[in-house]
Amino acid sequence: MLGYIQKTDNTYFLLATLRLVLDAVEAALGLVFSADILELLWEGASMENLGKPVILLLSSSFLLSAASSFLKNEFVEPKQSLIWLTYDSDFSAKFQQMDYSLIESPYVKKLTDRIWKDNNWGAGIGSAFWNLEFVVSGICRLLCSVVVAIPILKIIVTHGNPWMYLGLVVLLVALWLLAGARTKAGAVYQEQLLKEPEELYPEELYRKYYSFCGHWTRRCLSGDYHFIKDIHLYDGYNLMEHYTVGNMREGEKVIPWTSVMGKLSGRLGFLQGAAYSLATLAGYLISAAYALLGAFPVGSVIKFAGSITNILNTIQCMGYWLSELSLTARRVASTLEMLNVSDEMYKGKLPVEKRLDNQYEIEFRHVSFRYPGSERYALEDFSLKLRIGERMAIVGMNGSGKTTMIKLLCRLYDPQEGEILLNGVDIRKFRQDEYVRLFSVVFQDFKLLSMPLGENVAASVEVDGGKAEEVLRQAGLGERLEELPEGLGTYLYQDITDGGIEISGGEAQKIAIARALYKDAPFVLLDEPTASLDPLSEYEIYSGFDTMVGDKTAIYISHRLSSCRFCDDIAVFHEGRLVQRGSHEQLLSDEKGKYYELWQAQAQYYQ
Ligand code: ADP
Repeated sequence: MLGYIQKTDNTYFLLATLRLVLDAVEAALGLVFSADILELLWEGASMENLGKPVILLLSSSFLLSAASSFLKNEFVEPKQSLIWLTYDSDFSAKFQQMDYSLIESPYVKKLTDRIWKDNNWGAGIGSAFWNLEFVVSGICRLLCSVVVAIPILKIIVTHGNPWMYLGLVVLLVALWLLAGARTKAGAVYQEQLLKEPEELYPEELYRKYYSFCGHWTRRCLSGDYHFIKDIHLYDGYNLMEHYTVGNMREGEKVIPWTSVMGKLSGRLGFLQGAAYSLATLAGYLISAAYALLGAFPVGSVIKFAGSITNILNTIQCMGYWLSELSLTARRVASTLEMLNVSDEMYKGKLPVEKRLDNQYEIEFRHVSFRYPGSERYALEDFSLKLRIGERMAIVGMNGSGKTTMIKLLCRLYDPQEGEILLNGVDIRKFRQDEYVRLFSVVFQDFKLLSMPLGENVAASVEVDGGKAEEVLRQAGLGERLEELPEGLGTYLYQDITDGGIEISGGEAQKIAIARALYKDAPFVLLDEPTASLDPLSEYEIYSGFDTMVGDKTAIYISHRLSSCRFCDDIAVFHEGRLVQRGSHEQLLSDEKGKYYELWQAQAQYYQ
């Protein structure tokens, strides 16, 4: 964590520590000068003699606190904000840039769960700043107090009175007891806090709670609240409450976590309070006894008592701050682990040949693939060649492996067996960024952003306006575009500005299709972005798209056979395998084939 902060801004620690040193010196000088003033008053000194320490007290206090405020306002806090922003944006960038296969991996899923829980406990890197500040300022104050107390300790040690030695020993023992009690309290408390909720509650109870409360709240907070409709309409709250609050009450009965913590802090609090009172009492009694014995003057009593109180207070708080700091370190560890997750896919270096004639050929050769953590093959011994400039339709039931094939083709995953070749070369050997430029894909779960329409289509802040308008017209959004007051500059949705427009599901699909056309890649893949449309509309979009893509290679995916009838080359998927391939008429003529079976099952809806 320290390394991360230092790497992000290498002057932060220096300036933050300097500021805390100034604060501690100010407090120590305040004590020293106040004691001197009191001693002069005690001795009945004249106003002139009093002037010097008063001026020193006021000027040192003014100068040091002004310097500290200047450092804090001009450097420390602005730097903290910037480091915080960098931390957040690094985290977000990590998700957007890491291998997609990793995001879906059980390891990263577990890690994100952990981060969510950890972040619920504290303010992430913010807690790190605050706790570090407390600890460093505690160390500075401790050092300053010791420096103030040393000359007086010297007097005690050289005085030679055995009672004074005894007093000193009592004081040291009380300090030691206090520090010990505080450290123990911190350790025990932390041990409880660091326990996984699963350890505190029976796992099943916790999972139910977490699934409904944690995940659902997270979705609502990120604006994905549409599922709440179902909760309203089916009076789902009562059911939810049973699993969340009711469930936790059940948990309390099984393991009364809160009362464990309550008793613990009660007992430790008592111990600490007793040690603290004892030490304070010892400090004051001893100081007074020294003064009465005439070992040192009244000013030194103030200095000694003041420094002892400061030392006590700091030790008292230090144990707490240290345990909070170590807790924070443990809580940010998951985020830092995520930032350090390294990509595992092999990244080739071969440049992708740029061909104006778009003469690219793709071949799947005996490809088998299982999703991470899954036992079943999503694709098994799958072989297929894509003919350049032609269209291919992939049909098959849900779960037959159609989307998986597209994900492998775009290198979101690598197959465990077999290889995928581009013009005869294994696609793993190509530079990833160049390779993905070959594909325009519209996935079923495509995502548009709350940004201007033009930027959505161009997927860039630099928009070729003429081209964007043309593809939007091709995708069937010409009329809608005319109506928009700000044209391509119109924001989608209202997250960023109230002037943003809400778009229907059909319009969103058309914008996603326009984005694919704008990219102008040699391969165009439509993976059922129209699944929520009725079969006729889907057919219209698919066959219309066919003319839009011109001489590019296009793959259309659908579980509706009617949508892909126009295609001469239809591949039929079943249980992760390619089972048939041919034109609609050829496939339908085989009455024992999967295509015939599917067609018969669906035909009743379309004929
Ligand atoms: P289709 O596109 O034909 O509907 P998919 O390619 O999406 O089918 O899925 C093929 C198989 O892989 C299905 O059994 C599905 O449950 C499984 N699958 C899909 N995505 C994942 C994933 N991220 N993790 C584990 N299994 C998955």
